[in-house]
Amino acid sequence: MTNSLFNEKNIFTPELYVKGIYVAAKTDTDVFIKREDAEQCSKSSAIIPLQRGNVYVIRFDSKPQALRAAVCGKDPRELKAGEGMCTPINDRIHYFEDEPADDYNFMYIPNKEGEFLVVYTGEGEPELTVAVRPILLGYDTDDLWWYAPEQKDILGNEDSWADWRWTSDEVFEHIYEPLRAKYPEYITRRHIGKDQSGKYDMWAYIFEPKNYEQVLFLTSGIHSEETDGYLGLARFLTYLAESDGSHAGLDYLRNKVKLVVVPLVNVGGASNGHLRETLGGVNLNRDFDDRSQAETVNVLWLLNQYKDQVAAVMDFHTSKSKELDLYYVFPIEHEAASCWLKTTNHIYEYLKCRGLTNEPTALTHVVGKYRKADRFLQGHIYNHYGIPAIICEHHHFRWYEHHSAMSLQFAADFYGNFIIQTALAKLKIVK
Ligand SMILES: [Zn+2]
Repeated sequence: MTNSLFNEKNIFTPELYVKGIYVAAKTDTDVFIKREDAEQCSKSSAIIPLQRGNVYVIRFDSKPQALRAAVCGKDPRELKAGEGMCTPINDRIHYFEDEPADDYNFMYIPNKEGEFLVVYTGEGEPELTVAVRPILLGYDTDDLWWYAPEQKDILGNEDSWADWRWTSDEVFEHIYEPLRAKYPEYITRRHIGKDQSGKYDMWAYIFEPKNYEQVLFLTSGIHSEETDGYLGLARFLTYLAESDGSHAGLDYLRNKVKLVVVPLVNVGGASNGHLRETLGGVNLNRDFDDRSQAETVNVLWLLNQYKDQVAAVMDFHTSKSKELDLYYVFPIEHEAASCWLKTTNHIYEYLKCRGLTNEPTALTHVVGKYRKADRFLQGHIYNHYGIPAIICEHHHFRWYEHHSAMSLQFAADFYGNFIIQTALAKLKIVK
């Protein structure tokens, strides 16, 4: 479940009955619990000093009910089914619906110096494990970041780069096919089937350097209304194909990493007004448990051809949320989380430098495991294939106009950095 990136510490082992988890502040003389209804720390509480920015995972090995109760601040005996699963932990971590937190994992990122986590117990001492991620949020590193140049818009004007209204066939015809024609040694394509309606073709594009040593599997447009996202990925891939060797990260990707890309999963939706769902009204990113749709089956069929080689699966989306600065979902206990956290740090700092996000609006993302999220592509893949998978959301409504040049630039930039960093992490070398 965990690996060497976790620095685990078993706090106490006896029986426990958790009454609450509280964040405490330290004064000169004592540690006080902030919540009014909590008692001051006693010997039956675990007090964990926290360092700003670290991600703490507190695992309740035998008491999932107790954790949920603690998150709710309720007596577990009064807890209703499902309660405690949708909880903003703080302004840096959000859970949503039934994804992705496990009952017994509690995650916390302190925003202030000198914060303590107090696990207050009624009787006995808590049976819990604290793991610390050695990755600070809110700090940038100098790891070969790639910066997308300024772009043209995707409004379909004479000087636009693309037209967001393009059908799926037009996206292939105007972007991917010319690229394949230009780099036939590097780019090939595979027909992976028809969509559920039977009318539209699904294609995979394979970017394969001669001497590749890794394989990444990329998907986008599973929600075909997210035009800026799948066109942003296409924009990045054109830069990749055209790489002149001047950027080391891009150059490594170009020469050492094979990309298996499904550029547009929901081809029917994209060809009929850019629907979120399929023509038959199915949300494909909730279909991976049932696998009732041809699109879902085709993507998994393709993944099965490469599954023993794939280092990571990356699914690119856009989000309409105006509340979250950044939104990424990935399994925090996998070593891939290290490079993904690093990349979210970088993007956050980049936005801050441009005056687009401010303290204390902080990095917001979802971390966790997907035991309960089989119906999501990334959850299904992590659960059933053991391949680390990430969902990257591009916030097209938060900082820029929809279909604007800036939206395209940021999608290409942020997606591109995630792909480059995942490659540089060398999660799985195949030859
Ligand atoms: Zn989406």
